[in-house]
Amino acid sequence: MSIILLEHPRPRTPNKYESVVNTPLSSCLMTGYVASTLKSNNHDVDIVDANLYGWSFNETIQELKKRNFKLLGVHLVYLWENTEDVFEMLLSLRKSIPDAHINLYGHLPTFASRELLANYPFVDSVTIGEPETTFLELSDTVINNKDTSALYTINGLALNSINCKIKEGVLKPNLILNKPRKPVSNLDNLPFPYRNDFELTRKRGISTYILASRGCYGKCTFCYLGSFYGEESSWRGRSPENVFNEIYDIYENLEEEYFYFADANFFGPGKKGRERACELANLIMDKGLNIKFGIECRVDDIEDKTVGILVNAGLKDVFLGVESGSQRSLDKFRKFTKVEDNKMAINILRRYGIEPNYGFIMFEPDSTLADVRANFEFLKEMKMLNSPSITAHLLHHKQTVFKGTFDYQRKNNGAKPVSEIMYESAYEFKDKAVEALSENINAFCLKILKDLSLNRNFKSEERDSCVYDENDTFSKQMNEKLVEHFEQTLSSFE
Ligand code: SF4
Repeated sequence: MSIILLEHPRPRTPNKYESVVNTPLSSCLMTGYVASTLKSNNHDVDIVDANLYGWSFNETIQELKKRNFKLLGVHLVYLWENTEDVFEMLLSLRKSIPDAHINLYGHLPTFASRELLANYPFVDSVTIGEPETTFLELSDTVINNKDTSALYTINGLALNSINCKIKEGVLKPNLILNKPRKPVSNLDNLPFPYRNDFELTRKRGISTYILASRGCYGKCTFCYLGSFYGEESSWRGRSPENVFNEIYDIYENLEEEYFYFADANFFGPGKKGRERACELANLIMDKGLNIKFGIECRVDDIEDKTVGILVNAGLKDVFLGVESGSQRSLDKFRKFTKVEDNKMAINILRRYGIEPNYGFIMFEPDSTLADVRANFEFLKEMKMLNSPSITAHLLHHKQTVFKGTFDYQRKNNGAKPVSEIMYESAYEFKDKAVEALSENINAFCLKILKDLSLNRNFKSEERDSCVYDENDTFSKQMNEKLVEHFEQTLSSFE
């Protein structure tokens, strides 16, 4: 085996239940796209998905030590306080496989390349941004034993200068940042992503993801989805025919009938974006595909007629970025939406029988008690607090500030990096009463989430749902407890 692409273990940390925010959903097919690009260029590549297999870091080390490879690509995901474990694993591998080239790709490496190469000089290179073409050129260079100087000509690659590696007995980094890589201009030119261990993925209840577009035309201050692809790219969509063909392949050959679009924003901008979505829906209906699917989108893309067509084609689940019930916070986030838009989108979806999942930020660094009150009243008015796990998430969710976002650059309220890789900023709330409230609510909600997980009937769980039977007495009690506690605590601060 010449090339291994590694999805490393992702142990859950006790204080973080929002595992999705450490890497965007759209990154779930990143390794599959790199693998298919390499395969279609005749490279010998294997995916080791330690996360899917449920391996520990030690088990992953033991497995990789048995393999023979020249290039190891690691999709590096931020693991909060456990991130260092990935580097301990890589250091251990580096000692036993000294000649293999180790490359990191993904969102964390893109935004923290400098810090990663400086702190972990046993990493040979970092891929910045969209990885397919950069990693292909890296593979051509490493596998074909080209002169190492060829590495400096690969756009999108960051690496330490080969000559400056060892000085006075210690590794001394010397960062070289090659020219940026332009994003793929026509996504239809990429091969469909390679789906490793499809049956195990299905058995684990993980959805079959499709990436029909990349990037987002929004510019929310807390989001790095756009900046990952660089300045030149805001939103790029595959053609409806190309997306349909991928779905059809999986439907026919793997008999899968549920798909989830991992796109940051399923809709492209404006009328054209909605028309493209309808074209895909019409293809699904015209060809008689009996499927269900889910999407993620902004509230201002939800429009009655479009939703009707998508529902007829099988739309069942929607993750809706409402973000806030406070207009001041929405404006500060540069969401360019109104609280009324949020309400309208929820009502349209409910008319079609869809109860959305919500992206919602209860606490942000500049929140006032009035913002928190506006959020709480919005959640109650829109009847979003019905299921205890969802209620707990909505009530306690605090903004995380990651590198690559406008908020990280602004470093508001004296934000400090959480660790040496400087990927996440810790911040103090502007209003100390909001800080105390957030801490109280966070502790309470995490305790309830823990109690819920202990009482969870895993056998009856479908997919990775966190929705509980609302009529179950235990669920009802937990839900009431959460809402009451929030009301009482917020009132006491007011
Ligand atoms: S709309 Fe969603 S995906 Fe787009 S920038 Fe805002 S948060 Fe990010």
